[in-house]
Amino acid sequence: MAKPRILVVEDETGIAETICYVLETDGFDTQWCSSGADALEALQTGCFALAVLDVGLPDINGFDLFRQIHAKQDLPAIFLTARGGEIDRVVGLELGADDYISKPFSPRELSARVRTVLRRVGKTPSAGSNAIQKPLVIDGERRKISYYGRALELSRYEYGLLKTLISKPGRVFSREELLALVWDEPGECFDRTIDSHVKTLRAKLLGITPTFDPIITHRGVGYSLAEVLPAQAA
Ligand code: CA
Repeated sequence: MAKPRILVVEDETGIAETICYVLETDGFDTQWCSSGADALEALQTGCFALAVLDVGLPDINGFDLFRQIHAKQDLPAIFLTARGGEIDRVVGLELGADDYISKPFSPRELSARVRTVLRRVGKTPSAGSNAIQKPLVIDGERRKISYYGRALELSRYEYGLLKTLISKPGRVFSREELLALVWDEPGECFDRTIDSHVKTLRAKLLGITPTFDPIITHRGVGYSLAEVLPAQAA
């Protein structure tokens, strides 16, 4: 099944890049447009499963853009509204938006909402059916983890780190948590200890999937495992 394609309409580059990055690591294709005009053009040539629409665009209000889109096609949409934009929320839902999320927002949360909406409208398989593929398999007795059917050669701490991340895909583990969960004597370790082990672990994973990095870095916070891994090694 092809990846669902998400149209991201957002004029702030930083926010747009973050959204696209997170959606792509979660198994979506994205196309970014920084204005309403660009978005309407993209919709003429491309096929999308859903649109993420910023309400405050430079050339058009996100709601008006939604109306224009819906005059032509029934595209599910999630609005990005300004902080405390209660009126935006009401207007958006009255217009028939599928969901809304207020800025500032967690990109993970947005990605989860995208998945929920797509599942509701029947455009994506549930996370459960993706999980059948099991790209990562832990053999606890042998302290081994295989990735797309290939056994990883992991050090003790790399094994502990990956096993911890796998326990809750999508959950962000802080460095402190990882130290406490994986290291025997966390008091003697430093944040950079985690970073260097994640670096070597990541290199081993990338050795098998060079175009897909399943470990997501949350700058200044910690790490998580991508919630959705490709069905097959990239
Ligand atoms: Ca904006």
